[in-house]
Amino acid sequence: MFTIAIHGGAGTLLPGDMSAEKEALYKGGLQKALDIGFRILEKGGSSLDAVTAAVIELENNPLFNAGKGAVFTNSGSHALDASIMEGQSKSCGAVTGVIGVQNPIVLAKLVMEKSGHVFLSGKGAEEFAQQEGCIFQPETYFYDEFRYHQWQLVKDSDRYQLDHTPEDASLREKKFGTVGAVACDSFGNIAAATSTGGMTNKRFDRIGDTPIIGAGNYANNATCAISCTGHGEKFIQAVAAYDVSCLMEYKGLSLQSAMEEVVMVKLMSIDGEGGMIGVDAKGAHALIFNSEGMYRGVRNSLELNEVKIYR
Ligand code: ASP
Repeated sequence: MFTIAIHGGAGTLLPGDMSAEKEALYKGGLQKALDIGFRILEKGGSSLDAVTAAVIELENNPLFNAGKGAVFTNSGSHALDASIMEGQSKSCGAVTGVIGVQNPIVLAKLVMEKSGHVFLSGKGAEEFAQQEGCIFQPETYFYDEFRYHQWQLVKDSDRYQLDHTPEDASLREKKFGTVGAVACDSFGNIAAATSTGGMTNKRFDRIGDTPIIGAGNYANNATCAISCTGHGEKFIQAVAAYDVSCLMEYKGLSLQSAMEEVVMVKLMSIDGEGGMIGVDAKGAHALIFNSEGMYRGVRNSLELNEVKIYR
């Protein structure tokens, strides 16, 4: 059995907040990414390739806060974070604070496969991207009018803003970001990939959970592949993705119970708003969030194929 699940961010998403057209755009974007990943699995491709392709598609879609359309930093640029992990070898790669790289997830995968390291940051990561022939884009490529407006509201303050929690309710309908995918292929190998622009108006080279292996992303064939979205600081404190794996490994919990424990109990006890998607090596999946909604989708070889936004 093979399965792919994706997310496009979680937060205060309420039915009626967004127009039917907008909702259709989001769902269409999710379905497209899901289908791209699914087709790879269907042809006998690897979970690693499926999650990479799905995340590339979401990075290229300006509706989501990753790649094109990522949020603005305090200095008006787009500093991108991404990570990827493969559950058979437990190889992983991550980048943080990269500017100008069209698809940070491709760079994270190159870090995993070719750098001899696991985690590269800023200028050094960009140098490695140049060396490996990654596609670079000018600032204008990443520009999105809505994100710019979001940033204008907070840019002269020392406030940062989670993509999930706009201060201005009128911004609600378009506020979400961070993307991720997890998959189990027909060989029983699992993988997870996550990519984000982080928080609007972030300063001091702030790093969230997304590029931190074990916090926002994790994969291990013996347990699960997890991709998170939400208040990154809290997910780091909770070591959220790895904690799901630990609950399965050491306590024998199922994927669903372990994810519920982390999202609904542990994260909530520290006000950690957000959610996560997960699969195990048998192809079971779970999509859990403690926020009002989460852009999400799942498709598997048993004909399940759905995308959802609200609870
Ligand atoms: N977790 C991401 C971060 O804190 C943000 C998000 O999921 O929207 O950078």
